[in-house]
Amino acid sequence: MGRDTKHSEELIENAAITRLEERGVTTKDIAELVYFLQKDFYPELNETYCEEQVKHILKKREVQNAILTGIELDCLVEAGKAREPLQDLVKVDDSLYGIDEVLALSILNIYGSIGFTNYGYIDRLKPGILKGLNAKSNGKVHTFLDDIVGALAAAAASRFAHSQKRKSES
Ligand code: MG
Repeated sequence: MGRDTKHSEELIENAAITRLEERGVTTKDIAELVYFLQKDFYPELNETYCEEQVKHILKKREVQNAILTGIELDCLVEAGKAREPLQDLVKVDDSLYGIDEVLALSILNIYGSIGFTNYGYIDRLKPGILKGLNAKSNGKVHTFLDDIVGALAAAAASRFAHSQKRKSES
């Protein structure tokens, strides 16, 4: 077992949100993906409510850890500072690498199997900000970020779906 960090919970949460913003992703961008996933099932849904779900997801430590780790690796590789062969595997987003998806699973795990379905769906369609993150251009490395953003949206959509189910049962 490790020890506890000297960093406060608030500092870690803020760092995760700041890293996302530095990489061009806001909670609003993620909320748009949540809306995309759920709008057909819940016509009364709006993006403000979706953004609230995203903010809840961002309060979880396992989510913050995944964001901080994945984005750090993207940035190291973007700066050419990782060692080979990892540098090239991440830079080209090698099809046999797969650890970006494994890391995203730690976000999806929070809300169980419905998260996986949502994740697979937006990963295939790449709506909204995911499209831009996936287009490899001007030396940017988003190998981890695209999966993290997809997983955040999927987890937030699942959180919402679970809350709706509880509401309809009570
Ligand atoms: Mg990826």
